[in-house]
Amino acid sequence: MNLSKFTEAALFAARKHGAQKRKGKSGMPYINHPLDVADILCRIGGIEDLTVLIAAVLHDTLEDTDTTPEEIGGLFGEEVLSIVKEVSDDRSLPRRERKLLQIEHAPHLSLGAKLIKIADKISNVRDIIGETPEDWNDSMVAEYIRFARKVVDGARGVNRKLEDCFDKVSGMQLENLE
Ligand code: ZN
Repeated sequence: MNLSKFTEAALFAARKHGAQKRKGKSGMPYINHPLDVADILCRIGGIEDLTVLIAAVLHDTLEDTDTTPEEIGGLFGEEVLSIVKEVSDDRSLPRRERKLLQIEHAPHLSLGAKLIKIADKISNVRDIIGETPEDWNDSMVAEYIRFARKVVDGARGVNRKLEDCFDKVSGMQLENLE
């Protein structure tokens, strides 16, 4: 893997997410999120493994766009595909069940998938705190943070800096809400 594969993956994800928006009221472009996850891994977690960073920018493409496993495997290889699959929810399942499965699966993920899961939850919690979606009340925010913490708890033991960052971001907010 080299750096040009990373920029290729970032552009691929940007095209696939297209005009999708994040939930917050300012309607941030969706691509900000996978880029944020890669940035968190790199700058907070000190992760330099391009396979992990490429999987990070692609992490929501299978779940949220028309991207196929064949496309990811063909362009970025089987190792990246396998990590992206690990961090993708099965959209045919009801929302509640998908969340329970995330908690259940977290301890069994590969190292790369655990790192992405933790960075993903840091990004989501920060976004929800920074700009709470209009239709969310405080108890929904608290519930999301508790869910995120359960997933992160299952993935712990892989990167102290990321885990500390999650604890800081989620802990401060839960104190305010409870
Ligand atoms: Zn995500």
